[in-house]
Amino acid sequence: MKKALLVIDYTVDFVALDGALTCGPPGVELEEYIVDLTASYIEQQLPVFVINDLHEKDDAYHPETALFPPHNIRDTAGRKLFGKLQELYDVYSEDMIWMDKTRYSAFAGTNLDIQLRARGIREIHLMGVCTDICILHTAVDAYNLGYTIFVHEGGVASFNPIGHDWALAHFTNTLGATVV
Ligand code: ZN
Repeated sequence: MKKALLVIDYTVDFVALDGALTCGPPGVELEEYIVDLTASYIEQQLPVFVINDLHEKDDAYHPETALFPPHNIRDTAGRKLFGKLQELYDVYSEDMIWMDKTRYSAFAGTNLDIQLRARGIREIHLMGVCTDICILHTAVDAYNLGYTIFVHEGGVASFNPIGHDWALAHFTNTLGATVV
């Protein structure tokens, strides 16, 4: 089955220890796994999507404004990819498809489903943060759209260890995903 890698919200604001909405050390610890798997997809000429939150400054109409501190604001350093993933992107941006999202799910308000369908892709591999927020919501939408889902345990993390463990079980037991 044709497959694609989705790297979700592995940005400075979500991962760096001083990021605006950091998930802390568990996020930083993913760096090597995420960079290695991304590089391997690029090497095999398999599609890699990097899908990142995009927020506008002082957006009173965005539901997250009431829930979280400002993060991933357009044209700020916090929206860059974290660490070596940004270095990889600097070199291979033509082989990585950048996509902006404005909600938790990578499918909400984006053309991700159309982009995957255009490539005949029915199997998606998920990495990034947070396991129990953006990865979870993306996996739920992927389930509803009939995708075969793989979640890379070494490539997902959360600030909330209970939420992380719950989400991993939910992927397997409720969404029929394979946690690898
Ligand atoms: Zn956000």
